[in-house]
Amino acid sequence: NIEKKVPEMESNILVAIRVRPLNIKEENQGDWDIIRIEDQLIIVLDPVEMEFASENRKMLEVYHRSKEQRYAFDKIFRLHSQEEVYSQTCRHLIKPVIQGFNATVFAYGPTGTGKTYTMLGNQDTPGLCTLTIQDIFQFIKKDSDNEYQVTITYVEIYNETIRDLLVPHSTYLELRDDPLKGITIAGVTESKAESVEQVMNLLFLGNKRRTTEATNANQTSSRSHAVFQVTVNSRSRTKNTEQENLQGKLSLIDLAGSERGTVTENRGIRLREGAKINQSLLALANCINALGDKSKKGFFVPYRDSKLTRMLKDSLGGNCKTVMIANVSPSSAQFEETINTLKYANRAK
Ligand code: ADP
Ligand code: MG
Repeated sequence: NIEKKVPEMESNILVAIRVRPLNIKEENQGDWDIIRIEDQLIIVLDPVEMEFASENRKMLEVYHRSKEQRYAFDKIFRLHSQEEVYSQTCRHLIKPVIQGFNATVFAYGPTGTGKTYTMLGNQDTPGLCTLTIQDIFQFIKKDSDNEYQVTITYVEIYNETIRDLLVPHSTYLELRDDPLKGITIAGVTESKAESVEQVMNLLFLGNKRRTTEATNANQTSSRSHAVFQVTVNSRSRTKNTEQENLQGKLSLIDLAGSERGTVTENRGIRLREGAKINQSLLALANCINALGDKSKKGFFVPYRDSKLTRMLKDSLGGNCKTVMIANVSPSSAQFEETINTLKYANRAK
């Protein structure tokens, strides 16, 4: 008998923070580390106050603690490897997905904080998408009672339009609300997942096709949401009944940069684009908020407010597990963005 409860994840939503290391550019600018971690607490020191007291570095921390901001989260990662982040977040979703449930993982945060590193990673340190596929394959190999089929899709949502990342020069794809299949993306490429290497190559290739634009804040700012979906179908080898067919779906999403339009000092198109992306991130926050509020059980969840939330309608709420990984920089120059990110993540709890 299959155990349906996932002990490591009692609640349906897990909110984690990942702090990337200070980079060379930040160090050269003279930025300093304003993040302190105490168990499940993340403490953000106020850099203005810190600068004021910077003649006396020892005094600074003491002085500063009066103005600090504190937030508690389920997990806080710093200097943790990709595998450690994986085993404390996504790993708990594999079993439910194989058992026919849907689940979603989000990487949230401003551009340059490590969303793509977390979800995709690189060839040497693969991220959550690859580690997930690897784990699913391992799970399947051990189970001789069932026959499995794993398929993947990879799309981007840019300015409320959907494009396929598994093919070059994709046209715009539309969402369909199928009475039987639920929400589907009409004409999307569904690739059969055959090996970890094959999926990893598709992901790296697809990621290169994402729409990125140069902004003043960063060389390349990703204003698109990348949505990687893994569908696991299983059929019993022993019993031959319809009932034994299960389908679970895991969505792994590298969200667009959460920074405000003003940060990049951009005008015109880029700014409007930013506004649209924020609308989409806001829609997501509103959905997660409505779902999390138990006093409002059965309350209207505004899925229809954006392409992203429409696409995830069957993967948020209900029996679905959600993991939100909010990424931040430790830099003093990013204080405002870090606070904004923690506030957003805090709403999801
Ligand atoms: P984002 O996708 O949020 O814009 P990236 O994932 O591209 O940010 O990260 C920006 C840079 O920081 C990349 O060069 C990436 O390799 C590096 N980086 C991010 N997170 C980490 C981490 N946890 N450890 C080491 N390097 C990291
Ligand atoms: Mg990115």
